Amino acid sequence: MNKVVKFGGSSLSCAEQFEKVGHIIGLDKDRRYVVPSAPGKRDSKDRKVTDLLYETYELAVNKEDFSGVFAEIESRYNDIIKGLKLGVSLKDEFATIRKNLKNGIGSDYVASRGEYLNGILLADYLGYAFVDAAEVIFFDKDGNFDSEKTYKVMREKLEGIERAVIPGFYGSMPDGTIKTFSRGGSDITGSIVARSVKADVYENWTDVSGFFVADPRIITDPENIEMITYSELRELSYMGASVLHEDAIFPVRREGIPINIRNTNKPEDNGSWIVQSTGQKSRFVITGIAGKKGFCSVNIEKDKMNSEVGFGRKVLQAFEDNNISFEHMPSGIDTMTIIVHQDEFIEKEQRVVSEINRLTHPDNIDIESDLALIAVVGRGMRSSKGTSGRIFSALAHANVNVKMIDQGSSELNIIIGVKNEDFENAIRAIYNIFVVAQL
Ligand code: ADP
Ligand code: ASP
Ligand code: MG
Repeated sequence: MNKVVKFGGSSLSCAEQFEKVGHIIGLDKDRRYVVPSAPGKRDSKDRKVTDLLYETYELAVNKEDFSGVFAEIESRYNDIIKGLKLGVSLKDEFATIRKNLKNGIGSDYVASRGEYLNGILLADYLGYAFVDAAEVIFFDKDGNFDSEKTYKVMREKLEGIERAVIPGFYGSMPDGTIKTFSRGGSDITGSIVARSVKADVYENWTDVSGFFVADPRIITDPENIEMITYSELRELSYMGASVLHEDAIFPVRREGIPINIRNTNKPEDNGSWIVQSTGQKSRFVITGIAGKKGFCSVNIEKDKMNSEVGFGRKVLQAFEDNNISFEHMPSGIDTMTIIVHQDEFIEKEQRVVSEINRLTHPDNIDIESDLALIAVVGRGMRSSKGTSGRIFSALAHANVNVKMIDQGSSELNIIIGVKNEDFENAIRAIYNIFVVAQL
């Protein structure tokens, strides 16, 4: 057996957490490849090292003094070294980073140092080899993940190493500069390592005992999901269930490697299993609920729109020409709605509207901002009737006005649009009707 284990920021935030991680790894000799994040928050008021690093970068770019924040970062690592009585010193590493910051190095390099330095410490603590992610994870010249090169080089490298620590979050560009994935991207690194070494399982250790039916910051003590499919998880993580990065399933999905979400602070809990497919019924009709705020809807009305060939294409053209991707597109006979990210759309709003006008001569265009989207996801919805009806009535009871509802053709998800201010209430209402009422 061969397991890849990724530990998130809070799992490696201080010496005490390192000890828990060391204990977990020591319990199972199959935990051979370890992917660490940068030190995260030690308590709710603390700051993540990655955020501190971005701050030093901003200060350096503006030619301001970054020494105060940098000292904070240094002390985070030095506390870990001291707490664990490690023999290693990061003095030279800090000096290099400081020098690079002064010389105007890119923000990705700076942010990546969080996992790089934590990786050095963890490797020393565990007695594992340290493999710099820059040597085994590659991006192409356009900045896209170069899967072919990465899997080949990483496989060859790790074949000869029995046990290694590979820092998460970053890799290198063809010219050798450092590039990171988007925030939370150490989850992706873990998945890439798992795929490269054809791991039997990818364990993702975090600060919760698995994937919950809903965000624990909205629902107190939500039910745990024992088993969830890659597709369900992708829908939920894309829509804000941040426990796993939305792109983290792609590498393991091809090889059918299961992901096990586990809690570093409660290693005895089984956590959640994310698998290719399962005959196991989920406990409830729905598997999970997730959502995000900050969307806009652009409603276009035109009589007999439905019979006008090419109407939809022209509308989408207006978005494409302004480089805006759309999230959803529910439509009626004479209406069509395009849902977009508010922050992307708002500055280009008038350009898009005038182009829609020019291309399609609609009767009316109406824009509504501050919308939230909620995804209700579940393989069980395929075989269960009346799910959207139940959602509607639960939301009506909770006094939530539904702005939009869109059922994916896979019957795996239903997307609901509500006002931002109704977001939490709507999630509670849906959770109550499908979960609390069934317990
Ligand atoms: P890590 O630093 O270990 O990668 P993250 O903070 O990225 O951890 O992800 C774990 C957090 O995700 C949890 O602490 C929880 O607040 C949040 N979260 C959001 N939605 C969910 C969900 N549906 N189930 C579990 N956790 C969730
Ligand atoms: N440290 C990075 C972040 O804070 C990556 C990660 O934690 O996965 O986004
Ligand atoms: Mg994370």
